[in-house]
Amino acid sequence: MKAAVLHAVDTPLAIEDVQIDNPGPREVLIRTGASGVCHSDLHFVEGKYRMHMPAVLGHEAAGTVEAVGSQVSYVQPGDRVIMCLSVFCGHCENCLRGRPVLCDRIDVVRSRSDPPRLKQEDTPVTQMAELGSFAEQMLVHEHAVVKVDDDMPFEQLALIGCGVTTGLGAVLNTAKVEPGSTVAVIGCGGVGLNAIQGARLAGALRIIAIDAVETKLTLAQEFGATDVIDASGGGVVDKVKDLTGSGVDYSFEAIGLKETAEQSFEILARGGTATIIGMIPQGTKIELDGPSFLSERRIQGSSMGSNRFRIDMPRYIEFYRQGRLKLDELVTQRMSLEGVNQAFDDMKQGHVARTVLVFD
Ligand SMILES: [Zn+2]
Ligand SMILES: [Zn+2]
Repeated sequence: MKAAVLHAVDTPLAIEDVQIDNPGPREVLIRTGASGVCHSDLHFVEGKYRMHMPAVLGHEAAGTVEAVGSQVSYVQPGDRVIMCLSVFCGHCENCLRGRPVLCDRIDVVRSRSDPPRLKQEDTPVTQMAELGSFAEQMLVHEHAVVKVDDDMPFEQLALIGCGVTTGLGAVLNTAKVEPGSTVAVIGCGGVGLNAIQGARLAGALRIIAIDAVETKLTLAQEFGATDVIDASGGGVVDKVKDLTGSGVDYSFEAIGLKETAEQSFEILARGGTATIIGMIPQGTKIELDGPSFLSERRIQGSSMGSNRFRIDMPRYIEFYRQGRLKLDELVTQRMSLEGVNQAFDDMKQGHVARTVLVFD
């Protein structure tokens, strides 16, 4: 099958043939329908996060089940599924506590003695997040998919696979924003826009969108922001204090930078909580004002929106059907697999919410 392969940091992905194995007992073979191009993919291309190469990137996807392993009963060929990188074992301590996002993930991957799921000649090929969706097919553990109704387009389903779940989940699951709260979201790309519409779903009274790109602030208002701050001129902390008096109850950082992570803490009111969604580069240290903790300010991480994706994703589809969740508006452009490098270039320019790769 055809896949976009990363061979070295900071080089374009190459569209090449990759051999995919047959499903093991608990694995599912998927025909990819659509895959979003997410900022986390770019982090690996740029080497801000490391992975073993060659590798097939991509982790925000939906598709159709083509074949299942001998022990799989949850799905069958023909089922439409969304993939999620939060593959869970179902029996470790975190899974049993209801936090599958923090699963130990011991027996949901193939062991080194098994043949690899993907290879080129004799070289094993890494699947990003055990998925690898910049490819015509994916071979994944059965606990990496959720079955959905077959009347939803792949594009919208794919977006739910990462950006939507990450942004909405950070607000609804990780921070648990209450109705009437004041919320700020720093960074209004694909994930930030979903944090904004998550805050709207949660009943936040004020939602302040912060970004340095004007078109993203306009989009943020369509997604539910009540106020916007153009960060290009600096002074973000003062501007938030001017708008709110004392700061915000909840802030969300959806970029992944030291400066904006520190800002997300500085704009909190007393008792406020900052949630870091962005992938801060490996090795980065964050500096916070010590006395701020005396006023019970908190800062926390959010992994994939603290999801329990087999519960969350079907609910998000229902929100969309009811017109309470925007998905169509997130798709800026569609491309074939060959467009993946262009999609990264456009992302670096900062003007697209999402590029979706579509497969026939
Ligand atoms: Zn992602
Ligand atoms: Zn587990």
